[in-house]
Formats: sequence, structure tokens, C-alpha cells
Amino acid sequence: MNNFTPGPPRARQPAPTVFCYICGRQFGSKSIGIHEPQCLKKWHAENEKLPKSKRRAEPVKPDAVIAHDGKVDVEATNEVLWKNSQGLMVECEHCGRKFKEDRLEVHQRSCTSDNPAKRVGRDRSKSQKR
Ligand SMILES: [Zn+2]
Ligand SMILES: [Zn+2]
Repeated sequence: MNNFTPGPPRARQPAPTVFCYICGRQFGSKSIGIHEPQCLKKWHAENEKLPKSKRRAEPVKPDAVIAHDGKVDVEATNEVLWKNSQGLMVECEHCGRKFKEDRLEVHQRSCTSDNPAKRVGRDRSKSQKR
């Protein structure tokens, strides 16, 4: 039985997408409600893995931006949510670049205190020439 029966045709409106204030990914307005608690859980799990000095306070969801007509300004709200997620990134102790927690773990496989990844931008240390 390989016959795939498509469901009844539906008028498909493009689902409005919302940014997750924690991870910065986009979700449909329905799935964001499912995702956010899970994402927060994951955030806590990742946060607990960090050394105590690096742990942060739980992220707070920014308020929705209300437009002049009293409705939620989806675009402006998304910008606030996305910016919030960017502010949650963790600085790599070796190279100083900022990453999401899960990315940092991957990054630090190749970036170590002995051999930090090349710093992009200004070079704060005296150049060591051999
Ligand atoms: Zn998320
Ligand atoms: Zn690094």
C-alpha cells in the first residue's frame, strides 16, 4: 500500500512565524507554544553543564511589541525575540567569540586553551613570533 492519500484540500495561509526568544529559531505560531517550554528545559540542562561562574539567570521572554492600533506588531516583536536570543549566547573562554551553548560545545572540540581558534577582529595579545 504505497498510495498516499492526501488530506482534504485546505486553504493554506502562510503560517505566521515567531522567533524563539531562547534559541532564535523560527516556529509557526502553534509550534512555538510547544517549543518554548522544551527549549527552556534544554537551556537549563545546558546551563547546568557550564562552570558555576558562567551560569546565567533564566532567560525572560520579552513582551510583545504593540503597534499603534493596539495589535501585536509581529515583525517588531520578532526582532525583539531574536535579539534576546542573541544576547543569550555564551562567550568562548579560549577565543572570546560568542556561541549558542550547544554550538560552543562543538566549537570547543577544536578550540582549546592550548590551541584557541583564530580570533576575528582585534588582536588583544602581543603577537608571538617564532
Ligand atoms: Zn528555542
Ligand atoms: Zn573558541
